[in-house]
Amino acid sequence: MKLDLTDLLRNPGNEADIAEELKVNFAEDGLKTTSPVRVKLHLVNAGPLVLMDGTAESNVELKCSRCGNDFITSLAADISEEYSKFLPPAGGGKGQEIELRDEDFVYRIEADNTLDLNETVRQNLILALPLQTICEDCKNPSTGSG
Ligand SMILES: [Zn+2]
Repeated sequence: MKLDLTDLLRNPGNEADIAEELKVNFAEDGLKTTSPVRVKLHLVNAGPLVLMDGTAESNVELKCSRCGNDFITSLAADISEEYSKFLPPAGGGKGQEIELRDEDFVYRIEADNTLDLNETVRQNLILALPLQTICEDCKNPSTGSG
């Protein structure tokens, strides 16, 4: 979904709380959600930047790397992003200067004051995927006698 920031952008210091359930699926990225993604965000208009903090949670279907079975687990991602409407144009024009650090990527707010929340959620959930996906059965092998 598109998040409309028109009100937030009106005055520096404005804040907004967002709670949404996104019906999204990112199967092509190996992220098969089996429930809506619950998103809770706090946004602050910090002048040239909009700061976003929050969480995204969903149930996802993964394939166990040990036994090969599909299993469903909950996945939670911490979201901490920075957005700006005033990024210098690509190619080095005369934009308002913003300190850009490699590890601190600033995303662009579109000209119509919206940002693509689905894309934010997609990127953060993918980052939160475990490197090794192990199902509960393999994590806790039954220790019965025999
Ligand atoms: Zn397994």
